[in-house]
Amino acid sequence: MSLRRDTDALAHLTTGYEPKLLEIADDSDPLLLKVSEPVPVEEIACSETQHLIRDMIKTMYAAPGIGLAAPQVRILRRIIVFYLPAARDDVNKSGVPLTVLINPNVMFLDDNKVSDYEGCLSVPGKRGLVSRANKIRYRGLNERGEPIDVIAEGWHARLVQHEFDHLNGILYPSLMAQEDKLLTVDEWKALTGK
Ligand SMILES: [Zn+2]
Repeated sequence: MSLRRDTDALAHLTTGYEPKLLEIADDSDPLLLKVSEPVPVEEIACSETQHLIRDMIKTMYAAPGIGLAAPQVRILRRIIVFYLPAARDDVNKSGVPLTVLINPNVMFLDDNKVSDYEGCLSVPGKRGLVSRANKIRYRGLNERGEPIDVIAEGWHARLVQHEFDHLNGILYPSLMAQEDKLLTVDEWKALTGK
């Protein structure tokens, strides 16, 4: 996805605000194990929330990452931001545009689970095999407070489940099977040829 499109997608958000980079908490921070609070709908339009969203997007791109949840920047609110580059879209190949998802809920649409390696900005330098539902429906509100209702498959579904877990204090290593060990990025590259 091009930078041009990212900028356009954000054009309606608060103008005249220069977003700042936030520090990303790593897994030594107990805040990451806490359950985040919903955002009251009337607070979505508040400058505090809008600025946080802008800061999260900037922080995610700078990291670089494809998803970030508010607790990762030590704000215990149910807000996630993500996008899926076309190259990582195993189902539609077209990618998923930058999405802000507030107070999400996730429904599993089939019993099919697939395993793949995940990384996390809060678990730096590591990769781990995680089994997840292949198809989900997620709902929530966008940055304008408008409803989002999407059916997602493959990596799109994996990404949303990963970010959603952060809102419930869950980090992916706790979901790994006992026999699978957390790999360093070098070990993961050697194993997968990536
Ligand atoms: Zn993560």
